[in-house]
Amino acid sequence: MPDGRVEAFNHIASVGLAKSGTRDPGLEHVQSFLQRFGYLGENSFTRGMVDENTSEALKKYQARNAIPLSGSFDELTRDAMTSTRCALPDLDNGVAFSTTCSWKKRSLTYAFDVDSTDIPGTPEFTAVRSAIRTWAGAVQITFTEVTNQSDPDVLIGWRPANDADYNMVGGTLAHSDYPLGCGVVTNNRPKPVHFDDSEHVWSVGAAANAYDVESVALHEFGHILGLQHSGVNGAVMWPTISSNFTLRVLQPDDLAGIWALYPRPPAVVSWGENRLDIFGLGLDSAMWHKAWDGTHWLPSPDGWDRLGGQFH
Ligand SMILES: [Zn+2]
Ligand SMILES: [Zn+2]
Repeated sequence: MPDGRVEAFNHIASVGLAKSGTRDPGLEHVQSFLQRFGYLGENSFTRGMVDENTSEALKKYQARNAIPLSGSFDELTRDAMTSTRCALPDLDNGVAFSTTCSWKKRSLTYAFDVDSTDIPGTPEFTAVRSAIRTWAGAVQITFTEVTNQSDPDVLIGWRPANDADYNMVGGTLAHSDYPLGCGVVTNNRPKPVHFDDSEHVWSVGAAANAYDVESVALHEFGHILGLQHSGVNGAVMWPTISSNFTLRVLQPDDLAGIWALYPRPPAVVSWGENRLDIFGLGLDSAMWHKAWDGTHWLPSPDGWDRLGGQFH
């Protein structure tokens, strides 16, 4: 069990286990969790009872968290709900977000404002830059750091838990937003990447009872690029994270998601001195190739050889 689990959503941790049909005033905490993260519609249920809609919402939550679909508030469900997590919802009105959204432009700017009070100096900014580079290495998008006064696309900073643009009180660590046109926080620039600085401790690297800035930033920039929460445990876009833990490498599920939104960059390999081979997917879904022999581009400076195939 992650260390952070003790404090996260502790009002849910103390609610008794409940089968379908059970009444218990404490279940309201479970229902507000389900509502907050998109599993249960507002005013669609009886407060303090595992009624039919609440049971259906529990099943959706269980399905997303690889828990057997009991429709009850059972132990595995309570464990999952008391993990520290991202503040953005998992579902939109009970269904997985059906629309994916990407930036129309391929170069984004970002800036920092307030740093964390937990870390001397600003190595946390360096950690966020590193997370941004990881995404930039996976897709054809460039990120440029600018000053806060230069009208950035993304503004990164640490905030109180009762953040003005999106509430992070409780077991939620951080929030961001989706690209312009499909935001859930704002549809204006700058888009936020905000870390809760009052209820959680931040670290650069794994540390007891603290959260690794780079790992959380990697997740939040996934949202900034248009990715939603993943139901694949172990993916960067999985909604919960443990303290004393790092996940700084994109997983196959994250890459599959981002390549559905943005072009994949060509791959470059070298088998000897003064030799580069470049492979890229064409708009025809075939593999194309060109090479540098130390003097010339082959087959020509602008040309590519079509190797064929049908890649999806
Ligand atoms: Zn998230
Ligand atoms: Zn915020």
